[in-house]
Amino acid sequence: MAGRNHLFVPGPTNTPHDVLSAMHLPMEDHRSPIFPKLLFPILQDLKTTFRTETGQCFVFPATGTAGWEVALTNCLNMGDKVLIYRFGQFGHLWAEAARRLGFDVEVHQVEWGKGIPLDHLEARLKDDKNHEIKAVLATHNETSTGVTSSIPGVRKALDAAHHPALLFVDGVSSIASIEFRQDEWGVDAAISGSQKGFMLPAGLAILGFSQKALAAAGTSNFPRSFFSLQDMAASNKDGYTPYTPSTPMLHGLKKALELLLAEGMDTVYARHYRLAEGVRRAVAAWGLQLCAHPGFESDTVTAVVVPADKDARDVISTAYSKYNLSLGAGLSEVAGKVFRIGHIGDMNEVALLGAIAGVEMAMLDHSFDIKAGSGVGAALEYYRSAAR
Ligand SMILES: *Cc1c(COP(=O)(O)O)cnc(C)c1O
Repeated sequence: MAGRNHLFVPGPTNTPHDVLSAMHLPMEDHRSPIFPKLLFPILQDLKTTFRTETGQCFVFPATGTAGWEVALTNCLNMGDKVLIYRFGQFGHLWAEAARRLGFDVEVHQVEWGKGIPLDHLEARLKDDKNHEIKAVLATHNETSTGVTSSIPGVRKALDAAHHPALLFVDGVSSIASIEFRQDEWGVDAAISGSQKGFMLPAGLAILGFSQKALAAAGTSNFPRSFFSLQDMAASNKDGYTPYTPSTPMLHGLKKALELLLAEGMDTVYARHYRLAEGVRRAVAAWGLQLCAHPGFESDTVTAVVVPADKDARDVISTAYSKYNLSLGAGLSEVAGKVFRIGHIGDMNEVALLGAIAGVEMAMLDHSFDIKAGSGVGAALEYYRSAAR
């Protein structure tokens, strides 16, 4: 098909040209004296994107899924009890990973479309008088439903209960795009990956650990080898890695961090809000509902619920085959019920208006009761007027 594919899945996201160029280079010696000149600035700049000064950032050649495992196996002891709320596919998979690793996983089901119920969490933590719960696992941005939960709210619940549990946050689709403040929110392990807000191909698990989490890693009895934080920290101290790093990915990450810091994290957050709000105006103009309940709307991905007599898979398939537009599918419980528009990473108004137009055409092709141009019109009026 002529023209480019329009990638609007919520990961992998679009990689900026400057980042692609930075990755296009010959292989190099990762034990050379100049390698630390590549790694040190990355580990430093990552701290700015995680908003941590007291913590430490790490990069593993892996993906976000591995990030869950790095946090769990380094900072907890074998069989420890962890608490998680499940309201989407990624929370489900994280709980499942913890279960497979032998942790005692307390899962609370929450309606898909809602986020972490803070009152319930606070009550449960107050109830846990013996402090059996060793970690709270919080999905900041549930990518499958387009739901953002309040991490400051989770911290408040822990503090109100005077509970010492570690706070692990899955920020794979929020860090470097939606406001995230590791130090201020008291996040002990923050987990991300390269192919969402960091605008790179998949291939890196990117993490931030508090001093409290690093101390826990020092005493943990959980066996780990490849994902050992201690091995990584020992090598990183001198600017190296315990095994062969993907040097092109590191060059790409260095460039991506330069782009993010040049824009400024607060400006990045504001841009994601503005872009998301335009999509939400379009959805409202179509007369459709978000999967996210009010107050939980994500600024990186919008899951749109189709009317009961429609199948979201038809919209996704027509968008792809007829208009060269890639949308996110509904996963698991919401398969066929929602399609997702990713607006995370290297994105701007005009690109997103193209996606909104493509969605509109695909829905019209499947006889949705919408007016041609209604969503595009609502979004573009918002983008023209929105402060930037
Ligand atoms: C994408 C994603 C993951 C999984 O990351 P992979 O890189 O695919 O392993 C985990 N959590 C959330 C919230 C995600 O969006």
